[in-house]
Amino acid sequence: MNIEIFEKAFEKGKEAIPLGNVATYIPELGKAGKNSLGLSIYTDDGQRINIGDTQTRFTMQSISKIVSLAAALEVCGFDNVFEKVGMEPSGEAFNSLVELDLNSNRPFNPMINSGALTVASLLLPKMSFLDLADYTRLICLDEEITFNEAVYKSEMANVSRNRAIAYLLESKGIIENGVEESLSLYTKMCSLNVTAESLANFGMVLALEGKNPVSGEQLMNPKVAQIVKTIMLTCGMYDGSGEFAVRVGIPTKSGVGGGLLSVVDKKMGIGIYGPSLDEKGNCIAGRPLLEYLSKELNLHIL
Ligand code: GLU
Repeated sequence: MNIEIFEKAFEKGKEAIPLGNVATYIPELGKAGKNSLGLSIYTDDGQRINIGDTQTRFTMQSISKIVSLAAALEVCGFDNVFEKVGMEPSGEAFNSLVELDLNSNRPFNPMINSGALTVASLLLPKMSFLDLADYTRLICLDEEITFNEAVYKSEMANVSRNRAIAYLLESKGIIENGVEESLSLYTKMCSLNVTAESLANFGMVLALEGKNPVSGEQLMNPKVAQIVKTIMLTCGMYDGSGEFAVRVGIPTKSGVGGGLLSVVDKKMGIGIYGPSLDEKGNCIAGRPLLEYLSKELNLHIL
């Protein structure tokens, strides 16, 4: 593998960092080092490339939405999940409740907060937070994933908007199993500490249709992995998903902690950590970095 292409991509990402800002609406996230950047690659032939801050722990935030979606598809089944939450891109901000309130009786998709809160409510009777944290460790091939209590408490002290969404969902009969518990489970999942390398691992598992790249063990149903990757492509970058799909064409999920998880199907898992975010809440280094890689290595899905 030509390491220079990855180094060049890293530099392209680095150049964009000053144009963004770290998230501060969860005060604890505001402590992140704005200039941090890590790029971790894991390929199907077992090679790894780690450049920059690939071992720094940071919270998954919205990347946990794909973990919870996968778990819900496994334990509740396709029909039960998609009866409650749609699979269409929303074109709205990740924490919007306008469309849900005015025009819909279902969240648009499981990647926006209303959809993820709905998924959390579906999981409540089936899996505890500890079960879900174990599942996260399993599919990220990372035993060291821990719960970041400081970030959790910081978000719970500033959670009015997500609480409003959760109660709106209850008023529409979409959340049936405990509003506060769903909110707490969702926020706990957002507060799991990963690294860019754990995200690359998870990306590789998804790329291999749910298989552990080392042992070959099936960690996730292949159909579940296929659904997760499709939703990542269409909805993974919030209201920036369309442009990202055109320019980069690699299914990717972002989180406001600065993480990005990308899947090059059958070939590669990519994990990025860069807490400087663009105005839509996506790691600002991610797009130029991944766009460069996509072009140089011909990774666009189409
Ligand atoms: N915990 C965050 C929230 O609900 C996650 C958002 C994100 O990563 O985009 O606001």
